[in-house]
Amino acid sequence: MTDQNKKARRTDYQAIFKKAYQLMDEPIIAGNCGELCGYHCCRRIDTDGKRLGMYLLPLEYEYMQAEVVTDYDLHCQQQYKLPPKIKKSYYIYCHLAEGCLRDYRPIQCRTYPFEPHHENGEFSLVIEKEQMHSCVLLKCRSEWRQTFIDGVYQGWLELMKIPIIKYNINYFSKERIAANNIMIQYHAKGDATDGILHTEFFKCK
Ligand code: SF4
Ligand code: SF4
Repeated sequence: MTDQNKKARRTDYQAIFKKAYQLMDEPIIAGNCGELCGYHCCRRIDTDGKRLGMYLLPLEYEYMQAEVVTDYDLHCQQQYKLPPKIKKSYYIYCHLAEGCLRDYRPIQCRTYPFEPHHENGEFSLVIEKEQMHSCVLLKCRSEWRQTFIDGVYQGWLELMKIPIIKYNINYFSKERIAANNIMIQYHAKGDATDGILHTEFFKCK
């Protein structure tokens, strides 16, 4: 690949990440949900004393986080179970005491409690049965803001334009299906209006 092509790809991927961050910037409910649960999904230490962090998406460090994140571990294929084509993955630690990286919070913080799912060529958002955070909001889904759901959905459609991210989504979708780990699934319905495709509650397994 020529230097010019590399530069063009870098701009493309960065633009996709920036658009996804923007689309996924809506709060899940009106107000600050962290006040309901003591910022449970932002805790740094698990009950067993283990340090907690979060994985970045493939290329998210390179295109969005390199200048922001200072505390991370690099997980490699040899030591951790990663999808075969992903040779390394950034596992970052945030510092709630110094304030959330709000404007730069990673995709994983923006999408939770949704996960992207791709099955038989159809994209959906799912909530898994296995929950690490036991988010209190799972019991009051009717209060979730539609703009949050739409933004997360559209953000993932953007990110799927990056082949390695699509591969990652496909890999974990297959794992999820094999483990029967889908509790709730949201599919898109209807046509796009004003560029926003409204998602609708579809089924509860
Ligand atoms: S666990 Fe749920 S309610 Fe608590 S901060 Fe995370 S998303 Fe908000
Ligand atoms: S970046 Fe912010 S939202 Fe994400 S885990 Fe850290 S404190 Fe929570």
